[in-house]
Amino acid sequence: MDEHLGACERCGATLSPGLVLCGACATPRDTVPMWAGPLMMGRPQVDPNPVPPPVYSRWEAGPTTFGPRTKFAITVVVVFLVLSIGGIFLLGGPMVFVWPPVMIVGAWRFLRDVWRSDRVK
Ligand SMILES: [Zn+2]
Repeated sequence: MDEHLGACERCGATLSPGLVLCGACATPRDTVPMWAGPLMMGRPQVDPNPVPPPVYSRWEAGPTTFGPRTKFAITVVVVFLVLSIGGIFLLGGPMVFVWPPVMIVGAWRFLRDVWRSDRVK
């Protein structure tokens, strides 16, 4: 059974398969053949909210990183701790060659992680 065959609803003319309009009175058919579907859809679908490309930043705050103010605050605190606590060892004692370097290296690695460039968007 060919669903494209039928009579025009308006004038009763026999409709040929594949015609969108009646050949006699140009009344649109009630059923649009499959091949005409793409022609009837209008503009192509465009995503209204495209996913933005990832943005990496060393300064902006992101979901997993702090903003520049917080990073500066962390840096100040860490440097202060290294200078103050490490300074105590520098006053003397056998550990002066152990803990100050360890603290400096630890602080360096910690701050490097704090200030790493990370995805913010
Ligand atoms: Zn007709």
